[in-house]
Amino acid sequence: MKFIDLGLDQRMLDGIVALGYETATPVQQQVMVPILEGKDIIAAAQTGTGKTAAFLLPLLHRLLTSAHTAGDINALIIVPTRELAIQINESITSYGKYTGLKNVVIFGGVKQGGQTDALRRGTDILVATPGRLLDLISQGFISLQDIKYFVLDEADQMLDMGFIHDIKKIIAKLPFKRQSLFFSATMPPAIAELSTKILGDYERVTIKPKQATAEKVEQAVYFVSKPNKTKLLIHLIEENPDASILVFSRTKHGADKIVRLLTKAHIKSAAIHGNKSQGARQRALGNFKKGELNILIATDIAARGIDIDELALVINYDIPNIPETYVHRIGRTGRAGASGRAISFCDQEERAYVRDIQKLIGIQITILKNN
Ligand code: AMP
Repeated sequence: MKFIDLGLDQRMLDGIVALGYETATPVQQQVMVPILEGKDIIAAAQTGTGKTAAFLLPLLHRLLTSAHTAGDINALIIVPTRELAIQINESITSYGKYTGLKNVVIFGGVKQGGQTDALRRGTDILVATPGRLLDLISQGFISLQDIKYFVLDEADQMLDMGFIHDIKKIIAKLPFKRQSLFFSATMPPAIAELSTKILGDYERVTIKPKQATAEKVEQAVYFVSKPNKTKLLIHLIEENPDASILVFSRTKHGADKIVRLLTKAHIKSAAIHGNKSQGARQRALGNFKKGELNILIATDIAARGIDIDELALVINYDIPNIPETYVHRIGRTGRAGASGRAISFCDQEERAYVRDIQKLIGIQITILKNN
C-alpha cells in the first residue's frame, strides 16, 4: 500500500516523500486505518518495522484535519527513556516539516528552563518521559485538559513496576474522551490485561512480520568465564574493525569498567547509562549514530526503540535475565529489513537465562566456542 492511497494530508505526504518513504510497512498498513478512524488500539509490533511512523502519521493527520486551538497540547506521547523521547520528537519534526504543527520534547536530567520556555511558546504535540512530565504539571507549566490523543510507546515497560505509578497518575489527569494508542514490541499477558483495564474497549492489532526480529538477527552465544569476557570482547572488536558495535552491560558500573578495559587495549569507546549527564549521553549516542564512534557500551536505557543505521553487531556482555529485554536489545540490529548479528556472553551463573530466552523466542541460539 502506498502512503498516497491512505488519504493522508498532502502537507504530511510532502514531509514523508522528502524522506524517501513511499510504501507503508506492514505495521503501518494495519494500524493507520483504525487510528484514522479514531479507534483505541493496542499494537504489538516488532521493533524496526516502522512502528513510530505507524502512529505518528495518522496522529499528525488527525491533528491537521480536526478542529483544535493551535498551541494547545492535543497529543501526548509518553516513552520510557530520554533518548527515545528525543528520537521520536525528531521524527515528528521531519514528518511534520510542512504541517506547521509544533512539537516539544521534555525529559529529566537537564535543567528545565529550555523546556518550559518552549512550552510557553505553545505546542500541539508533547513528547515526554513520565517523571519530568509530572514535575512540570505540578509546577503548573503543563495542563493535560486538551489532550485528544494519548500514545504510550514501549507500553509493556511503561505499565511495569518501575513506571506504572507515574503512568496511572498521568492517565488520571487525561480527559475521559480521548483516543489511546499503546505500542510495544513485546506484550506479556499480565501487561495486556492491565492495558485492557485502562482502555476498556479497544482494537488489538498484532503484527506478525514474515520474520520476527529474533529470527532475522543471526544469534550466537559464547559460554565464557567471567574473567575472560573482556578478552573475548576485544577479540570480537578486532575481528570486526570497522563495524558499529553496541555492547550491553547489566550495570552502570560494569559499563564504565568495560570502557576502562577497552581503553587499556587502545580501543576507543564510550558508555551511556543513567549516571552520565544528559549531555554526555546525547554526545556519545550522537557520535555512535553518525559513525564517528564505533563502540558504544550501554545499559538497558539504550535497549528500546533506539534507531541506529547500519548497526552490524549487538554484543550482550551480560546476557539479560529478562527474556523480553533480550529481544529489545538484539532488535537494535537487523532493522528495517537489514540483517544483523547478536552475540551474547554467558558465564556459569547465567546459563538459566539462555534457556528462558530460547523459550520466549522459540529458536535455539547457536553456541560458539571460544578457543
Ligand atoms: P521504527 O520501527 O519506528 O523504529 O522504524 C524503523 C526504521 O524504518 C526507521 O529508520 C524509519 O525511519 C524507517 N521507516 C519507517 N517507515 C518507513 C517506510 N514506510 N519506508 C521506509 N522506511 C521507513
